[in-house]
Amino acid sequence: MNWPKELNNKIKKTESLSKYTTFRSGGKAAFFAFPGSAGQLKLLVCTAKKNKLPIRIIGAGSNILAADRLKRSMVIKLSAPEFTGIAFRGNRVYVGAAVALPRVLKICCDKGLGGLEFLSGIPATVGGALVMNAGAWGRNISNLVERAKVMDYNGKIRHLSRRAINFSYRGSGLSRYIVLECILMLNRKSRKSIKDKIRGYLLRRRKTQDLSNPSAGCIFKNPKDYPAGMLIEACGLKGLAFGGAAVSQTHANFIINKNKASSSDIIKLMGFIRREVKKKTGIQLEPEIKIWD
Ligand SMILES: Cc1cc2nc3c(=O)[nH]c(=O)nc-3n(C[C@H](O)[C@H](O)[C@H](O)COP(=O)(O)OP(=O)(O)OC[C@H]3O[C@@H](n4cnc5c(N)ncnc54)[C@H](O)[C@@H]3O)c2cc1C
Repeated sequence: MNWPKELNNKIKKTESLSKYTTFRSGGKAAFFAFPGSAGQLKLLVCTAKKNKLPIRIIGAGSNILAADRLKRSMVIKLSAPEFTGIAFRGNRVYVGAAVALPRVLKICCDKGLGGLEFLSGIPATVGGALVMNAGAWGRNISNLVERAKVMDYNGKIRHLSRRAINFSYRGSGLSRYIVLECILMLNRKSRKSIKDKIRGYLLRRRKTQDLSNPSAGCIFKNPKDYPAGMLIEACGLKGLAFGGAAVSQTHANFIINKNKASSSDIIKLMGFIRREVKKKTGIQLEPEIKIWD
């Protein structure tokens, strides 16, 4: 495939996704691109489209399970300075899609801007958090979003209001776009109260989640009436292993990469859990993670 010369040094070939996912598993992407600007991103998107090459966007890779043998595609990672800015205007934060969520929390805390604390410990980028409508302890990032700047797959920039984004439980209409930036609306708070809350949320996580092994957080969405972890535990599946993948002993909705698990180990384990939970409780679990085939 011929890429425009402006994209020289921006595209790697046959790049392993295990380096870019928190599961530390997954096969090779035919093309892996790091655009240096929105202009280069547009060029990438348009060239891929002309060549019928499917595109996927990766943030921190903390909610992605990439198959061991991936179909031919191009994975795009935003990491250039154009996508990592943070600026403040009053209580509004203008933040680039590639900024790590923990960094946003830290900087907002230093500025005395609160509201994001419940997201402490989520290892996402801002773009991934928006697309997934990341949340915890009963709250979601959608409540803080005023607007998002996105690029569509024709390279056109759009500005979407919160309403137009159509947020849902662990999802949003942003999955049809490439998120470039967003505006978050926060509240003035004392630094001490923000820090205390962050500390409290991190402690709760450490007590209830397995953070010492690679994972993608919760594997399944919570069904209407019961948390997925409670159902999996009730079916006696804690500790169950397939190859190097195991159901966490700490949190049954976490699958951990205990010993060089392949993505197919994880997929097999997920399939077994779904069948067992359906058989024993009648409830069909739906994956929260994105499976790239
Ligand atoms: C230890 C651990 C704890 C976790 N705890 C939580 C939790 O409490 N709550 C929660 O909600 N999640 C949690 N997660 C899951 C995960 O962190 C979130 O889903 C997060 O929002 C994913 O962000 P990311 O940047 O890693 O996105 P990725 O995993 O890279 O991508 C997720 C999806 O977003 C898309 N995407 C990413 N960036 C962009 C972009 N710029 N434009 C368009 N599409 C994009 C991808 O294509 C993919 O479909 C946890 C994960 C781990 C490993």
